[in-house]
Amino acid sequence: MQESRYLANALVPRIGEFVQIRRDIHANPELAFDEHRTASLVADKLTSWGYDVSTGLGGTGVVGSLRRGLSSKSIGLRADMDALPILESGSSSWKSKIPGLMHACGHDGHTAMLLAAAKLISEDLEFDGVVHLIFQPAEEGAGGALKMMDDGLFDRFPCDAIFAMHNMPGVEAGRFEFRKGSAMASSDNVTITISGRGGHGAFPHETTDSVVAAASIVMALQTVVARNVDPQSTAVVTVGAIHAGKANNVIPQEAQLELSIRALDTQVRSLVKERIESLVNFQAQSFGVQASIDWREGYAVLLNAPEETEFATNVAMKVFGAERVEPNGPAYTASEDFAFMLQKVPGSYIFIGNGSPGTQGACHVHNPGYDFNDEIIAPGAAFWRALVYEYLKVQG
Ligand SMILES: [Zn+2]
Ligand SMILES: [Zn+2]
Repeated sequence: MQESRYLANALVPRIGEFVQIRRDIHANPELAFDEHRTASLVADKLTSWGYDVSTGLGGTGVVGSLRRGLSSKSIGLRADMDALPILESGSSSWKSKIPGLMHACGHDGHTAMLLAAAKLISEDLEFDGVVHLIFQPAEEGAGGALKMMDDGLFDRFPCDAIFAMHNMPGVEAGRFEFRKGSAMASSDNVTITISGRGGHGAFPHETTDSVVAAASIVMALQTVVARNVDPQSTAVVTVGAIHAGKANNVIPQEAQLELSIRALDTQVRSLVKERIESLVNFQAQSFGVQASIDWREGYAVLLNAPEETEFATNVAMKVFGAERVEPNGPAYTASEDFAFMLQKVPGSYIFIGNGSPGTQGACHVHNPGYDFNDEIIAPGAAFWRALVYEYLKVQG
């Protein structure tokens, strides 16, 4: 197969440059909207390879565009650049130089993979159309995708299709997972504040106890997924934090619950919201306390377009063979702001395995021991290159 020969003979021996770039970004992590060093590294590289480079989209976002031939057909490939506020536990020579900050989600690797692809595409690839390489800030909760779109991303750089790729620990290194339709969950953040009448722990009958009400609400919330959501559907209601009281003999005035809500379907998302509001309010009433709910909508359900997903799956099959491609991969209850880009432009969000169970690459993202597996830069970049080649194929 021509493509696999290309991988072994031409690409792998050259990938060292991008391993160095990945480790350099890893050692110098930057939080959401603060990716100045990373963005200028990306912009400098793209410029040196002949891309038209635009900076400052959505704060620190970068777009590199390359046109060949006469066609106006265009493809967008997106990588994310931000790190997380986590203290790295590893001992590699490229360990984060900034205590309390690390690339624990592999965005250093996504950036290096797309840069590797950028160089390959710029060198010798025949295509007819326009490639837009989108380097996005602030994927981790702060919504950098929307910020870039607010800055006119798709007006200034129209794309007929867009694609993004994330590493997946626990999946064999370099194995590709595709999925049509709903692939990642919506994510909402909710704070419930319960206000009662505080008092002495010895005289509970003279109080309305916000702690007891909060405890009951936590238990009642468990019925939303178990009893209201269709067993064939997926939703998550996690109470990740409870704040109340300071002393064993004081009944506090107030208790607070912090929730993370996920769903793989927008109707399920609405149903879960309705049920939580109703349960919390009636529970509060039954205990004689007040409840207020602060509902902060996060990322949308991520929907992969069937046609573009099929197209990308076929490209991966062609390059790597069916044994390294899962055409019907699982949906995940994590969330991703690429979902907002997919609401505007059809495309697909793809996973690439970071390492099988039992290997270092299986350590999960957002864990202090996580590290992106440099072995997958080559297959990731080769896939991006092939996707551009096939999507913008020279006719005749
Ligand atoms: Zn993450
Ligand atoms: Zn991530």
